Amino acid sequence: MERKIVIATMNDHKAREIKSLIGGHYNVLTQDYFSIPSIPETGKTFEENALIKANQVAEKTDLLTLADDSGLEVDLLNGEPGIYSARYAGPDATDDENNQKLIKELERYKGEKITARFRSVIAIVEPAENKERIFHGSWEGTIRLDQRGKNGFGYDPLFFIDDLGVTAAELSDSKKNKLSHRANAIRAAIDYLLRKNNT
Ligand code: IMP
Repeated sequence: MERKIVIATMNDHKAREIKSLIGGHYNVLTQDYFSIPSIPETGKTFEENALIKANQVAEKTDLLTLADDSGLEVDLLNGEPGIYSARYAGPDATDDENNQKLIKELERYKGEKITARFRSVIAIVEPAENKERIFHGSWEGTIRLDQRGKNGFGYDPLFFIDDLGVTAAELSDSKKNKLSHRANAIRAAIDYLLRKNNT
């Protein structure tokens, strides 16, 4: 496969999800492959952070680059943890620490329907044409106060999909990749790239 794309992420789960969605169309390389260290997310929005990551990696590799910034928005917490999802319980917090913090913050709403959504913003930077593009995806659900399931990562064990009666961590990788916020945003990005390649 000739066409190359670099995924600007240090998160192995995300890289795997993105690879399985885009791998049929591109030769997918990761930030790790180029030994590019983690890029600080200094933006105030998902859009800003996705662009910061994509632009820095594109600058270093001079290749078509895709970055995702994503997170969980809980309505009863006014959209928190939002862009701070990865560091909700502290700068180096583990997934489990973040989940425990979320449970603690939401305990007072026990018994209520706690609506939430995952959001993904994908930035694509095309250094050859000096172009950047943004794509959005979201996934609606409710938060459970007990963790269920072992698949996925991050807040998946707390994110309940009402229609299916399971948490995101109880879905297989392939099912999650059909439904998720990232899958929706990436599908839009792939449509754009394929249309462009055909014109
Ligand atoms: P980012 O690397 O700054 O985009 O951090 C995203 C954070 O949002 C992750 O570390 C998770 O805590 C959360 N997150 C994003 N996507 C997902 C998902 O698909 N499942 C569970 N948690 C997610």
